[in-house]
Amino acid sequence: MGLVSLSEVLEKANANGYAVGAFNFSNLEFLTGIIEAAVELESPIIVQTTEGAVNYAGMGLLIAMTKTAASSVKIPVALHLDHGKDMDVITAAIKSGYTGVMIDASDKPFSENLSITRRVVEQAHARGVSVEAELGRLMGQEDHIDVSERDAYLVDPDEAEKFARETGIDALAPAVGTAHGAFKYKGEACIDFERITRVKTDCGLPLVLHGASGVSEWIVAKAVRYGADLPGVKGVPDELVSRAIKAGVNKVNVDTDLRLAGLGALRQVLAEKPAEFDPRKLLGPVKSAVKEVVSQKINLFGSAGKGRT
Ligand SMILES: [Zn+2]
Repeated sequence: MGLVSLSEVLEKANANGYAVGAFNFSNLEFLTGIIEAAVELESPIIVQTTEGAVNYAGMGLLIAMTKTAASSVKIPVALHLDHGKDMDVITAAIKSGYTGVMIDASDKPFSENLSITRRVVEQAHARGVSVEAELGRLMGQEDHIDVSERDAYLVDPDEAEKFARETGIDALAPAVGTAHGAFKYKGEACIDFERITRVKTDCGLPLVLHGASGVSEWIVAKAVRYGADLPGVKGVPDELVSRAIKAGVNKVNVDTDLRLAGLGALRQVLAEKPAEFDPRKLLGPVKSAVKEVVSQKINLFGSAGKGRT
C-alpha cells in the first residue's frame, strides 16, 4: 500500500490504547524480517534508521528498499529517522521520502530544544512528514547514575505540555528512566509510570519509549552458547513495557534485541557450518531470528490485527 505517515500509525494506536513497534534496520535481512513478521500478524509497523544506518547503507537505498517492500504488502508501513541530530540529514530525509523524523536536541537547554524542534516541524509538516522530539535525557550505557540523581534526567511534565503546544510535534519521547544499549542498569530496571501518565494527560500526544529492549535471557543465551561475550547485559522486562503502554506509550523502539538475536543466529550458523560460504545461507538465519523477535514484540505491544485493511 505504499508508505504511510508516522502520525497516521500513531494516532490510531493512541485512540485505541496500544503501541506500535519501531524497529531499527540498516540492511536487507533486518528490513525483510521485520516486515514479514508484521504482515503475518497483520500489524502496522514502523521501520527506522539512525544517522549511522544512513552513513552505512546510504539514504537512497534505505528509502528505495523500504518503499518497495511496503508497496507489495497490505499493512501500513512508516519509515522514520531515529535520533536525527544533523539538520542536513533531517532535511534530506524529509525531502526524500521518510514519513517521520525524530529531532533529538535533548542535550540542548529547553528553550533551544524547543526552537530547533519547531523549525523541524515547520519543514516536515509542509511535506506531510511527522515529527518526534525528545525531552529529558535518556541515558546511554556509559551514563550509569544513582537513583537519587535520576530525577534530574527525567522529563518535567510541565515543560512537556508547553513543549508539545509550542512546537506542534506529533509524538514525544519523554525520558522516564529507560536507557539505550544492552547494558541498561546496574540494579533493577526502573520506569517512572506516574510520570508517563502525567505527561500523557497533559499533552495527549502519542508517547515514545526509547531504550526498551528486553535483552531476554533466551536471546542472550543463544548468542553466548555460540561464543558471544556479553557479561552484564540487562534490559527492560516485558511486564514493565506492558505497564508503560497502559500508561500512555504508543511507540516502542527496539534495536538492541534485534542485534542480539541476529548475532546469536549468525554465530550458530558459523559454528555449525564451517564450510558454508553462501551469504544467503549465512544471513537467512539472521533474518529468521529478527522475524521471531519482532513477532514476539508485536504480540507484547498489542498491535497484532491492527494493520488489517
Ligand atoms: Zn533512542
